[in-house]
Amino acid sequence: MRSIQDVDVILLLSLASRLESEGQYNLAKLCRAAADSLSRRAAWDLDRSGEKEPLVSEIERMAAALHGVSAELADALRTGASAMAEGRLPLIHETPHPYVCRTCGHLTLGDAVEKCPTCGAWGGTFQWFPPVYWLEALDPRAALEQLRQTPLDVAALLEGLSEEAMTRQPPDGGWAIRNIIAHLRDAQGVIAARLDQFLIEDDPVLESKAVFAWAKDEATRPPSTREIFAAYHASRLEMIAHFEAIPFVDWWRTGRHEEFGVVSIKQQMSYFAAHELTHLPQIERLVRQR
Ligand SMILES: [Zn+2]
Repeated sequence: MRSIQDVDVILLLSLASRLESEGQYNLAKLCRAAADSLSRRAAWDLDRSGEKEPLVSEIERMAAALHGVSAELADALRTGASAMAEGRLPLIHETPHPYVCRTCGHLTLGDAVEKCPTCGAWGGTFQWFPPVYWLEALDPRAALEQLRQTPLDVAALLEGLSEEAMTRQPPDGGWAIRNIIAHLRDAQGVIAARLDQFLIEDDPVLESKAVFAWAKDEATRPPSTREIFAAYHASRLEMIAHFEAIPFVDWWRTGRHEEFGVVSIKQQMSYFAAHELTHLPQIERLVRQR
């Protein structure tokens, strides 16, 4: 199999740009996909699981190396690393969204510029880098469909499992099935409360929640995993019924998320629907491991 060493990714991207300027978009998309695939494969092949360097010092080292690319970006990385060292997530004002000029690569943080200071390209042509693709993954209809379907898929995975099997911690010390179900229930609680807030308040401030950290918290859990699942599913069905009844235009109502900046209901629904999908293979793996 050919690897990234055999193909010059920069030449590939340069070819894509030339093809785009000729209007050859179908050919350009193949080159861009190949460049992305090669970069990701190389990163995937670079097994760093055993590495000892803490993430914070690696970010600081990268920030120093990137200073010449964008001092603004390097500063945001350093601020974010300090937040991480304090054990919290960096907020949107500390780590604003990046935009990259699709023509020349000029990088800016915060709002897209009106005009590229390097090549003169119109700001609207810049590429926005969202913190996670989940925000834009699903349109409203697909998001609702997925939010309806995922609990059914989870139920199918749990079929026939005993409470003991669902509570058993895997050998790597990670989450048991029960923790994953509790996590889905927690995330559902956040999205349901957030959607109410969107509809009651104008431009609400949406608190950043470290939902991930609650999964092993047993303080307020119902006794059995199936009861946690039932609470999750019931809240989901209620939320879907509520959302099918609101005017479609309300999906574009926005709030200010402490971590992600301006977000719409449409983006929040897509986010939570896409997020859940990433936990299905995790449950599947644990079921197989038994
Ligand atoms: Zn430019």
